[in-house]
Amino acid sequence: MRGRVSLVRVWVLVAAVLGGGASAACQRAVVAQDTRQPASLVITGGTVLTMDDTRRVLSPGAVAIAGTDIVAVGTPDEIAAKFAAAESIDATGQVILPGLINTHTHAAMVLYRGLGNDLDLQDWLTRYIFPAEGKTVSPEFVRAGTRLAALEMILGGTTTFVDMYYFEEEVAEAVKEAGLRGVLGQTVIQFPVGDAKTPEDALARMRTFAARYKGDALVTPAVAPHSMYTLSAETLKATDALARELQVPLLIHLEETRKEREDSIKTHGVSPTAYLARLGLLGRHVLGAHGVWLGPEDITLVAKAGAAVSHNPESNMKLASGTAPLPGYVSAGVAVGLGTDGAASNNDLDMFEAMRQAAFLQKVVRADPKVAPASLVLDMATRGGAQAIGMGDRLGQLTAGRRADLIVVDTTQPHLQPMFDPVAQIVYAAKASDVRTTVVNGRVLMHDRQVKTLERRTVLADAAKMAERVKAAVPNQ
Ligand SMILES: [Zn+2]
Repeated sequence: MRGRVSLVRVWVLVAAVLGGGASAACQRAVVAQDTRQPASLVITGGTVLTMDDTRRVLSPGAVAIAGTDIVAVGTPDEIAAKFAAAESIDATGQVILPGLINTHTHAAMVLYRGLGNDLDLQDWLTRYIFPAEGKTVSPEFVRAGTRLAALEMILGGTTTFVDMYYFEEEVAEAVKEAGLRGVLGQTVIQFPVGDAKTPEDALARMRTFAARYKGDALVTPAVAPHSMYTLSAETLKATDALARELQVPLLIHLEETRKEREDSIKTHGVSPTAYLARLGLLGRHVLGAHGVWLGPEDITLVAKAGAAVSHNPESNMKLASGTAPLPGYVSAGVAVGLGTDGAASNNDLDMFEAMRQAAFLQKVVRADPKVAPASLVLDMATRGGAQAIGMGDRLGQLTAGRRADLIVVDTTQPHLQPMFDPVAQIVYAAKASDVRTTVVNGRVLMHDRQVKTLERRTVLADAAKMAERVKAAVPNQ
């Protein structure tokens, strides 16, 4: 039965063996215990897109999970013969794939969704976002916003997200409550903000935050200098020193707009990427968001440093920021993940749309339908994203030994039939609302579209309360 969770019984075989002589018939009971390995969860019967190094597809296939990890991927028969599952999900007619990794967002900004649309980036920021943030951002606001974002992400098949915001300890608590995985960047910016009066305050907060979540299974703390144009060289260097000392990722907006690039060349004589390289701020721990305006020499700098890029096509289109040089990154071997950016400039956290738009944008701009094929885009949303956040050995693929972060997409819907190519179907036709099941770290966060970790009504009511504060802060809405 599709989508049913059932307890799999442990079979106890009672064999009656007749023994003894011809005259005395006696009965002996032989109890044979199940010798199969225990699995906490088996998802079976669906088409499995492993996203492993050979992009193996099993149709049908099954995934066995023990605790937090995937222990095997194989045919349903192989898995059933080898594993006794405490819980099983029948995914017949559905597609099982790694959970989607959103490599750039500002989760709590869902509370500004739809605030100030169809404006230039600077206009939008200075007239709407910065004033609204100045008056509304608080621990309570960030917690409520992140919970709303988490609900949207679980429903849409995102299992890991990379965040850059304020009060990241509140984000972390919401992440743990939701059961999601997060790389959570404490923002450092030159001007006073809700959680830090100075960049030094922000760095001190980061230290405390990193100590609190060191070794956490779901939360990876990160340092998030906002951008090269909102921080002094001294502060930028301090953020990098801290990231290296704590051995955590560094998240930064990188060459999002043409203006950022032109201003940098005017002020520093070099591109933003070359400027950051000059300050020593490019390395394997660095994830640059957007990366729209890099030239070939900048891409070489990023590739040589082993830094990664988060591609955010929808935000770049909505704010008319430009088109990232995706083919350049790919041919240089840069790890590229996909992101939505904050919901204020997207206006959602839907990674299925991000995949589709990523492909379409490259094709139309380069007048070449062969650019950004579905397989490349699905790579970016899964294994590429994992590599971009330095977790390629743990996430992004359905293979034994990796964390059990996966989703089940219902492909029996009319808009997903018939299905000749499951990868093309996921990228070009599936919607976030087709996700039936979301599993993170071996835990079922949603099944049959019922989210188990967050109470929908409470999350929405809290968000509505916060929306009143936003309305009061920006009254001309
Ligand atoms: Zn951003």
